[in-house]
Amino acid sequence: MEQAFPKGTPKQDQMTRKKDRTTAKAKTKKLSNKKNRYYYKSKDTMRVITAKNFQLMIRLRDTGNGGHCISCGRYITWNSNCNAGHYIPGRRNALLLNEANCHSQCIHCNKVLSGNVAEYRVNLIKKVGLEKVLELESKKNDVVQIKKETFVTLNKYFLGEIKRLKKELGIR
Ligand SMILES: [Zn+2]
Repeated sequence: MEQAFPKGTPKQDQMTRKKDRTTAKAKTKKLSNKKNRYYYKSKDTMRVITAKNFQLMIRLRDTGNGGHCISCGRYITWNSNCNAGHYIPGRRNALLLNEANCHSQCIHCNKVLSGNVAEYRVNLIKKVGLEKVLELESKKNDVVQIKKETFVTLNKYFLGEIKRLKKELGIR
């Protein structure tokens, strides 16, 4: 049986200090996880947050200083009459967060005309090229399982881009 050291002896102090350090270390690690603002968020919530920031990034990219609806060409600005419209839609689709697959679109084309896809395609070819459009179309039925960690990483990138674009465009 291990001999207990009387309180206050150097050996016991050493052991206590070691234990304290270990506890402190464990606590720090736990806190740093909790400090992560996404620590308690579910994967589905992360999907929603990431998609929202992706869409904001797209609207700023295309129409931050004013621009045109990818389908009908109507003048729109990032914060007025503007949606980020997917060429190939789908919540589980592999192209959900693909920058070539999403562009600023007026609300009428996006919601009322369900994406106004025919005109979208014509202008998308002009914007990104036929090859890219065909590549997107070839992935039409691809479904991907995205991990929560991937959403967190992508979201961080989108937030960085939003910050950069806003600064560049002088948007507060
Ligand atoms: Zn439109």
